Amino acid sequence: MALEQTIKYEAERDRDFARWVMDQSGGDNLRHCIQCGICSATCPLSLYMDYTPRRLINLAREGFKQEVLSSFTIWLCASCYACRVECPKKIQVTDIMYALKRRAIQDGVYPRRFPIPVLAREFGRMIFLFGRVSETLLVIDLFLRTSWFKFLSMTGLGMDLLRTGRMSFLPERIQRRAELRQVLDALDAEEKKEASR
Ligand code: SF4
Ligand code: SF4
Repeated sequence: MALEQTIKYEAERDRDFARWVMDQSGGDNLRHCIQCGICSATCPLSLYMDYTPRRLINLAREGFKQEVLSSFTIWLCASCYACRVECPKKIQVTDIMYALKRRAIQDGVYPRRFPIPVLAREFGRMIFLFGRVSETLLVIDLFLRTSWFKFLSMTGLGMDLLRTGRMSFLPERIQRRAELRQVLDALDAEEKKEASR
């Protein structure tokens, strides 16, 4: 999935975004990245990424916001921490990936109809509404938002699972959901405030 090399210009940089990246947990030492590429060589998924971890780190710290937030890379990262273990400069690549995922969802900038960001967003939405995730509803929602074809092709399996009691349409809920929402709203507001600094 590697992209062709393109020339980037100074004017395309978003310095606020670069500062935001540096402010994230694990972002403070991004400047120390020596672009050795060990993270990319170690990453089991870099083959499928549009930007390798090394390139993504460089784009992020230089403020190429659009490229970073709309990349497939951050969603393909499996949080295996192999890059973190091998990095000679102890750059926390995985934590940066998490921060970028959160920002991409918050800004609504991610590859459309790509299942992983949709799954992450809907997972968060269910937690907000019910305090728990109902796997059946989550999977149905995911398929409907990303691929009708897959939804139809999985219908038979879904019916079997429903018939044998392995799946249920009833949403699971916790008590005192309003309190949970208050906490999540406060965290969300804090995150937005951080992003706008
Ligand atoms: S391994 Fe560490 S220092 Fe090397 S390119 Fe990756 S993040 Fe940068
Ligand atoms: S944590 Fe993510 S970027 Fe790092 S090696 Fe694993 S999959 Fe690749």
